[in-house]
Amino acid sequence: MQWETVIGLEIHVQLATNSKIFSGASTAYGAEPNTQACAVDLGLPGVLPVLNKEAVRMAVMFGLAVDAKVAERSVFARKNYFYPDSPKGYQISQFELPIVEHGTLEIVLGDGERKTIGITRAHLEEDAGKSLHEEFSDSTGIDLNRCGTPLIEIVSEPDMRSAEEAVAYMKKIHSIVRYLGISDGNMQEGSFRCDANVSMRPKGQEEFGTRTETKNLNSFRFVERAIHYEIDRQIDVLENGREIVQETRLYDANKDETRSMRSKEEANDYRYFPDPDLLPVVIEPSFIEELRKQLPELPTEKITRFKQEYDLSDYDAENLVMNKETAKYFEEVVKNSNAKAKLAANWVLGDLSAVLNQDDIEINNCPVSAGMLAGLLDRIEDNTISSKIAKEIFQAMWSGEGDVDAIIEAKGLKQITDSSEIEALVEQVINDNPGQLEQYKSGKDKVFGFFVGQVMKLSKGKANPQQVNDLLKDKMK
Ligand code: ADP
Ligand code: MG
Repeated sequence: MQWETVIGLEIHVQLATNSKIFSGASTAYGAEPNTQACAVDLGLPGVLPVLNKEAVRMAVMFGLAVDAKVAERSVFARKNYFYPDSPKGYQISQFELPIVEHGTLEIVLGDGERKTIGITRAHLEEDAGKSLHEEFSDSTGIDLNRCGTPLIEIVSEPDMRSAEEAVAYMKKIHSIVRYLGISDGNMQEGSFRCDANVSMRPKGQEEFGTRTETKNLNSFRFVERAIHYEIDRQIDVLENGREIVQETRLYDANKDETRSMRSKEEANDYRYFPDPDLLPVVIEPSFIEELRKQLPELPTEKITRFKQEYDLSDYDAENLVMNKETAKYFEEVVKNSNAKAKLAANWVLGDLSAVLNQDDIEINNCPVSAGMLAGLLDRIEDNTISSKIAKEIFQAMWSGEGDVDAIIEAKGLKQITDSSEIEALVEQVINDNPGQLEQYKSGKDKVFGFFVGQVMKLSKGKANPQQVNDLLKDKMK
């Protein structure tokens, strides 16, 4: 039997407002537990919530960025449930009338294939507190600081067909909210997290299978792994003639598996009703138009521009643009250097990304500034150094040894382009290796590489490779 995977994601994005969605309490991360939840966040008797306009603005910006319909009237509803991390016994969310509906998002897959994913809705809601299970051995700690932090929950259509598509979609949403500046997108701190709904159906069947929902995945890798695990598990259950139970599951990263958490609740379990303390949110068309004008250049537009302006491939443009700061850094390098944009792209996506990853440093805090990298590329371009030496210099710049010219000077790395100097090296290598010369002359072309290697070695990597090649060809005729 051939199975097809069906995936829909619900992504919770914490909005970057200074205060909570219905109160003036601070949203700053990392405060002492239970110092930032005020009476409104806790829902103490007699309090009244007041909507934070900034949260509305951010939700509208998101809606515009995904070509969605922004509702001129939306309504907050109470979603009733009792968990210890939500002391008032309900969460204020939106149910029947969300602020954003019917958006779309284009994703690009590894093979360059493009696919449009539908966004069913994005609604405003408040976050709950946090249960802390690890700090205490015999009890659970409750930190209510996060209560009332504004979120948008972005619900996709069940349009994805593989873990790869789901991750591409999630990355694109992440990229967009960062471009819009409506969230810091920090996944370790829980500002961006995802619930993955997964089901299987026999290939060719129209009707969807029963799904499970794996909650609170806070990294791209966990989403990918949890989905892979669910696919294997569900196929196994189905092929053994059993049925998938619709339920909520948890992903355990240590064991790399999902586990059942609770049976799936239905909407009616939540006894939704419009929150009597909050007025409907009415948005004037002029407010929407005002915000439309303020939209920044978004990833898709930037990719198109990068391809045209810098003559980059799809792949390079996609990867440079994904992260707003990387795109900015790249453009600064290009602006400050005479080298081709393609060379800048190679360095930013290659050597630079590799060390940033390795040392876990954000590009904003990169010890090699865009200006310094531009300087390095200029020295490659004007033949002062070879690309190989450039890598060595880059490492030195990374360790704080100064800019490119200072390092070339200090380490004596200037490329040898004086042809008489290179000629002397070439002659020495030819004279030292009569056996190999014989082989070359008898038709073993591959030996040529050996000679190039020897000359480069003798010059400590500093001879201009093109000149070495030319001179060797000439002398070994
Ligand atoms: P609920 O409100 O109970 O969470 P929704 O119908 O709003 O359920 O769907 C939540 C998410 O699950 C959406 O992203 C949707 O695309 C996805 N989804 C719905 N049905 C399926 C299915 N059969 N397989 C995979 N994903 C699904
Ligand atoms: Mg849901």
